[in-house]
Amino acid sequence: MEVLNPNERCSVVYGQKTIDFNLLYSERKTMEIAVHPDGTVVVKAPVQSDVETIKKKIKKRARWILRQLNYFKQFTPKTPDRCYVNGETHLYLGKQYRLKIAKGSVNSIKLTRGLFYITCRNTPTPEMTKKRLNQWYLEKARLQFAESTNRCWQKFNSLDIDKPGLSIKRMQKRWGSLSKIGTLTLNTDLIRAPKECIDYVVTHELCHLKYPNHSPEFYKLLDSVLPEWEKIKHKLELSMV
Ligand SMILES: [Zn+2]
Repeated sequence: MEVLNPNERCSVVYGQKTIDFNLLYSERKTMEIAVHPDGTVVVKAPVQSDVETIKKKIKKRARWILRQLNYFKQFTPKTPDRCYVNGETHLYLGKQYRLKIAKGSVNSIKLTRGLFYITCRNTPTPEMTKKRLNQWYLEKARLQFAESTNRCWQKFNSLDIDKPGLSIKRMQKRWGSLSKIGTLTLNTDLIRAPKECIDYVVTHELCHLKYPNHSPEFYKLLDSVLPEWEKIKHKLELSMV
């Protein structure tokens, strides 16, 4: 059982850096520090512990915390600024396509021979192109993410857990997440990544159905369902810059 006092947002200074953390008191004997992929640091402490002692302990672990924060920082989605003009490249399922915007009798978007071929009845502004392209990405994401979830779910079928519902939205800092009520949320931008990378993100989140943390058991499960996950994760990081 945990009680979060919203006022307990604390920080410690370590060298040049400030570490912000959420402090939770709970019925436990020892203190636990967790660094989450979104960059939040959560400290769970025994009910009777005082803040100064907690801060001292955090300072002792500061190097580790900063290393974790740094580690997660490199995976945060980077969406490069785009101008939505002819000749610019855009990614879809890991491949680059060059934008070709032309006037046409209908509004359409097609992928053909390395091109994102966009036709418009009126000469489009970059904002209109952006809107249409994002709409197109979202439609593809719905299809591809559902397929990916079905594909990956096969390895979890036997675990006696319920298949999560799927939600798709833009997220600033994550590729995917899993809510406590069992909704798998995927970042729309993940549609730009290769299929195996989408499957990796989905698989990682599905493992959280069994283990909500990044404990050794979690990684054991991930290793068993996707032995080459580290390689794919690396590919995701490289392909999305
Ligand atoms: Zn995770």
